[in-house]
Amino acid sequence: MPKKGILERLRDGVVIGDGGFVFALEKRGYVKAGPWTPEAACEHPEAVKQLHREFLRAGSDVMQAFTFYASDDKLENRGHYAQKSLTGKSINKAASKLARDVANEGDALVAGGMCQTPTYLSGIGKEATQKMFQVQLDAFIEEDVDFLICEYFEHVEEAEWAIEVCKKSGKPVAGTMCIGPEGDLHGVTAGECAVRLAKAGADIVGVNCHFDPQISLECISKMKEGLDAAGLKPYLMAQPLAYHTPDCNKQGFIDLPEFPFALEPRICTRWDMHKYARDAYNLGVRYIGGCCGFEAYHVRAIAEELAEERGAKPAGSDKHGMWGQELKMHTKPWVRARANKEYWETTKPATGRPYSASMAKPAGWGITQGNEELKQHAEGTTSDELQHVRDIASSKK
Ligand SMILES: [Zn+2]
Repeated sequence: MPKKGILERLRDGVVIGDGGFVFALEKRGYVKAGPWTPEAACEHPEAVKQLHREFLRAGSDVMQAFTFYASDDKLENRGHYAQKSLTGKSINKAASKLARDVANEGDALVAGGMCQTPTYLSGIGKEATQKMFQVQLDAFIEEDVDFLICEYFEHVEEAEWAIEVCKKSGKPVAGTMCIGPEGDLHGVTAGECAVRLAKAGADIVGVNCHFDPQISLECISKMKEGLDAAGLKPYLMAQPLAYHTPDCNKQGFIDLPEFPFALEPRICTRWDMHKYARDAYNLGVRYIGGCCGFEAYHVRAIAEELAEERGAKPAGSDKHGMWGQELKMHTKPWVRARANKEYWETTKPATGRPYSASMAKPAGWGITQGNEELKQHAEGTTSDELQHVRDIASSKK
């Protein structure tokens, strides 16, 4: 029996996405922070496969190929030179194969993903930017992925260019942006972004990364208003962070002083994800997944919250009772007393950090595509360049 396609699944119910690969694999020692590129698909295929398996077991319906930032220009940026030993195309193909292998261990689909590029950020233009997307698309077509995800765009213009390229394949296309309720970084509102994504041809529209689940849903709510007003009805998709970001500005968690190496105190609990899944579902979002910080247990929480709607619990629930029921087996009576929904729904977790503020001051440089400071180059960052940015950073403190 052929597997049911993504659009049919969205029409008939809810689709659960996966979690954040670059963050999870960086912590496990397979990805370099800074470039955040996915050469691990070639260098450490077993590590990538294992993470796919964890998400599959947690209830993910989609194995998103580990191709984040796998455009040729990003693989060679600021002295990273990943392409000295690998080509962009080989990474995209290898990642698609790994996702397919694990997807076929269950009933999951495979998505090829592409995202924002240094070429666009440097202002080199449409033709050069689309060339980057085309290389990735060629790999996805050769590997016959089930659908495509254009994600993590800060500027709707670049997202439109990516969707345009992907539409040529005839496969379903999702378009998501890493924006919050304030809209894209060129000042386009969230509602207008959604309309432009849909008009460019995206069958599924929404947000990913940069903001926490609640702020991301606020943004989707604005997107929905825009789409309704324009009479457009794409499926809605959310893949937020698993970090709390109430203090973020327009640029999202990138601007937090703790990004990326000290975000742990902000991590969402599995119970936060129950709320996220329910709120997303009630808003009409039918593709519900996660991005950076999302681990398998967060995805399992989504699957458990929506178990009734989906008609099944995930395999990972074999080791996890609903709302802490397994604690009935604990030796200590005061822990057994926590085996109930009310306890976990109402507990406000302490951070254990007596000198930690609850909010931070975002960097707030307020520059974006079109600004000289954001032009990229393949060579490594020089010590003069580094001093220059450190000087600006301290002048803004
Ligand atoms: Zn992310």
